[in-house]
Amino acid sequence: MIPPIASNFVAGETPEAALAHVEALNDRGVAGILNLLGEHYEERPPADADADAYVDLVEAIAERDVDACVSVKSSQIGLDIGDDVFEENLARIVAAANDSGAAGADGAGTFVWIDMEDHETTDVTLDAFERHALDTDGNVGVCVQANLKRTRDDLERLAELPGKVRLVKGAYDEPAALSYKEKARVDESYRNCLAYMFEAFDDGVAVGSHDPAMIEYAAELYAEHGTPYEVQMLTGVRESAQFDLAANDDVAVYQYIPYGSKWFSYFYRRIRERKSNALFALRAIVGN
Ligand code: FAD
Repeated sequence: MIPPIASNFVAGETPEAALAHVEALNDRGVAGILNLLGEHYEERPPADADADAYVDLVEAIAERDVDACVSVKSSQIGLDIGDDVFEENLARIVAAANDSGAAGADGAGTFVWIDMEDHETTDVTLDAFERHALDTDGNVGVCVQANLKRTRDDLERLAELPGKVRLVKGAYDEPAALSYKEKARVDESYRNCLAYMFEAFDDGVAVGSHDPAMIEYAAELYAEHGTPYEVQMLTGVRESAQFDLAANDDVAVYQYIPYGSKWFSYFYRRIRERKSNALFALRAIVGN
């Protein structure tokens, strides 16, 4: 069982718990992005098992008719074993997600996001996105990272494709030659990329950030360009801001919802990355 301090950041261990979390969010105007925790498998069986779990999940989302999509990590479905394993498993998930449209209310199938991992995976991830974006007429999305110097150029390629793109600051410690290291420089790159996306993207912009300054900037860009956009934040982080934003008709709000038995390392990362999260955990322990 997940202890109460961790359950702030993780929706539960089972798909049922995660879907119940989505239903509660939907009632408050927030959609869900479900992520089964797991990454960097070096053997095929766990990669295939997680891909199977996503196939079941996209079908369950459509059957329950909740407002939710999924987000998968390439190394979770086989990239460390081989590009072919990743591509085979991703194709299975995307096919199931599109077929699940028969059960969903709008018939469009379940949307599939591909998270972005470290810079060595960027090309294979973007190539896979491109193939599925064209095959599904845009029912997939990909994440790109503002801390990578290449991202502004990658966005020009992505602007030509259907599908959605999520811009994040980047969670990986990348080589200095390839990435911006200072926070101010990453923020500047985020703003430049966001401005380009609002100008050049037809299928919408996804702002994957908790940063009030970036969210405010996105609202300004929306007022200027009218490009549809969404804000995506993590479970347990600035949730009151998520609900406040959801009251605004101009923007769709999604909560990225991790779940599954491998919750400990994810929880530990959230605690390490921010003092306020550590204080929250401490208060919960002392309070108990
Ligand atoms: P930061 O630059 O960390 O913080 C800026 C400001 O935001 C802070 O000053 C504060 O005002 C506010 N803030 C940030 N965190 C908190 C908090 N815990 N509590 C209260 N206020 C806070 N990274 C990847 O590399 N690949 C991915 O596929 C990926 N997917 C993501 C999907 C989503 C939906 C989100 C939200 C993030 C994802 N990330 C991903 C992580 C991302 O790259 C950043 O590491 C992470 O979001 C921190 O950057 P930030 O923009 O939220 O704000």
